[in-house]
Amino acid sequence: MSIKKRSSIDLGFRTEISSFPEGETVNLCYQCGTCTGACPSAKFVEGFNPRRMMDDVLLGFKERLISSSLLWTCSLCHTCHERCPQGVHVSHILILLKNLAAKEKNIPEGLKKEAAQIINEGLTVPVGDAILRRRRSLNLPEMPYTVGVDEIREIVKTTHFDQLVDFKWKEETKEEKEEATG
Ligand code: SF4
Ligand code: SF4
Repeated sequence: MSIKKRSSIDLGFRTEISSFPEGETVNLCYQCGTCTGACPSAKFVEGFNPRRMMDDVLLGFKERLISSSLLWTCSLCHTCHERCPQGVHVSHILILLKNLAAKEKNIPEGLKKEAAQIINEGLTVPVGDAILRRRRSLNLPEMPYTVGVDEIREIVKTTHFDQLVDFKWKEETKEEKEEATG
């Protein structure tokens, strides 16, 4: 059994998380494991364990939590929150942890690419011919190529989300600059 060094424990972490309205419920966790038993991600992703994550919050293992890529495998289905007998807001606490991880630039590359895709096209995945053909075969309406992408870009710039996900804006062409200035 490995013993964690005291230096890797952040004694103020529990208080930090408890300072958020949804975070203070972590103090009610009695480690029953119902959240992990009900979690769809835990069934398929080895090592992902929301019960243990709540324990890590309580014990102050901040670094271990926010540096782990496992954190990002939570799909935010909120089943853990619904099933917890103590009413612990597990999924919301995981969002708090993701926000802390993002501030430390611990965002998986795949998610940064997805963010770039949203900023560029307003959609999480590129819409290729195969998707369009399948939509037609299912009699679904034609899709616009972009969905509110100007509004998305405005939000991204205003909130500095672009810096968080290391998004590189493309240089505007001379024609685009002229068009923007009328
Ligand atoms: S279900 Fe609730 S009380 Fe049980 S381990 Fe998960 S968070 Fe803790
Ligand atoms: S919200 Fe996340 S941790 Fe909770 S049950 Fe769903 S995938 Fe699991």
